[in-house]
Amino acid sequence: MPTSDLDPAIVKLCELAADVAGRTLAPVADEIDQAAAWPSASMAVLAQTGLTALHMPRRINGHEQGLLALAAVTEELAVGCSSTAMCYAMHCVASKVLEAKATPDQEERFLAPIAQGRHITSLALSEPGTGAYFFLPRVQFRSGEDSYVLSGEKSFITSGGHADSYVVSAVPPGAELDPGAFTCLAVERDAPGLEWGPEWRGFGMRGNSSRGVVLNDARVPRGNLLGAEGDQLWYVFEVIAPYFLIAMSGVYVGIARAALQSAIAHLQERRHSHTGDALSAAPPLWHDVAEAWTELEATRRLVRHAARQADAGAADAALHLFAAKARVAQMVNSVTETAMILTGGRGYGEHSAIGRLHRDARAANVMAPTSHLLKTWLGRSLLNLPLM
Ligand SMILES: Cc1cc2nc3c(=O)[nH]c(=O)nc-3n(C[C@H](O)[C@H](O)[C@H](O)COP(=O)(O)OP(=O)(O)OC[C@H]3O[C@@H](n4cnc5c(N)ncnc54)[C@H](O)[C@@H]3O)c2cc1C
Repeated sequence: MPTSDLDPAIVKLCELAADVAGRTLAPVADEIDQAAAWPSASMAVLAQTGLTALHMPRRINGHEQGLLALAAVTEELAVGCSSTAMCYAMHCVASKVLEAKATPDQEERFLAPIAQGRHITSLALSEPGTGAYFFLPRVQFRSGEDSYVLSGEKSFITSGGHADSYVVSAVPPGAELDPGAFTCLAVERDAPGLEWGPEWRGFGMRGNSSRGVVLNDARVPRGNLLGAEGDQLWYVFEVIAPYFLIAMSGVYVGIARAALQSAIAHLQERRHSHTGDALSAAPPLWHDVAEAWTELEATRRLVRHAARQADAGAADAALHLFAAKARVAQMVNSVTETAMILTGGRGYGEHSAIGRLHRDARAANVMAPTSHLLKTWLGRSLLNLPLM
């Protein structure tokens, strides 16, 4: 477990996460993948152990951790099961959005149940219309008598139909072209007017339940507005972007680690009958292992550096965050590809663990902010051009 650069509180959380990953997540990872089933039992254990309270305040028994802990804990969980780790990651991002400016009423209705392991939340930003431009919602909210009324459509919501609440982005009518109008509201699972789309059947991340939902004049209490009107951009830059980027980066570092571990075990175990030697005796394969390990280590360091920078509020943290997630996507695709080659026809088999990790890794470039957009933002920032 790569914890030598972490403080004792985070190391303890990593040990707990590794234990849950090994005992609970890993044994059912193949089953979850094959059945494309949301990992309800695994998520329940994560809640019981208190890991879902990672970002909740200490005064309500949360861990009050930031981005570095998120990077490290999601990595440990993804070594066990990518889908469960992604559902956990999205819960953490959404829970941080709920926590960031919670009113006393929101603390009672959302934060306390999360801290007590009784509430899973998720993030509903993407829409079919604006796709990768997840920061340009077209879902509208308008004021009803004692509620907000939401209409429109969201897509690819991880834990869709299973979470207890969703952080939904929306704009007031007529403000679609104003990035400052981006507003987040908490929508509870039993809000009237939610119509869930078909079950998620992904190429990878098959346990995610990343479903779409239509909001048919869905009503939420006025108290579910997150933050005060006018500070929406603060949420995007201070909470959503950093937590989203680090949560996903941690998951993909864990997927790469699992693939490399599995490939190394295979090289040590597999013997050719004509020589009696293990594959690990073949020098060219040492190079593949060395290169994959170096890529993984370098990327983990970039991710943790970005997390530390953002936790410390460094002015250039965004550059490191953009670079980290773009590099993670490249690294996890390359390491899982190497792992597939090293495990040969066995790895290529229909239900091999390497095959699952290889498919799960492919979501890294696709999930927003996509690698295209991250490199655009990073390049423009370095050239002193406006981000968009
Ligand atoms: C497994 C999974 C889980 C997800 N979970 C969530 C979730 O929990 N919450 C949530 O809100 N969303 C989630 N998403 C959605 C995800 O984050 C993306 O928003 C979504 O996949 C974008 O898909 P799209 O087909 O609409 O992309 P499109 O917008 O159609 O883009 C297709 C490709 O074109 C590229 N592209 C588009 N425009 C440009 C441009 N101008 N320049 C360069 N390249 C461009 C994109 O980078 C992308 O590679 C999830 C997606 C997946 C696959």
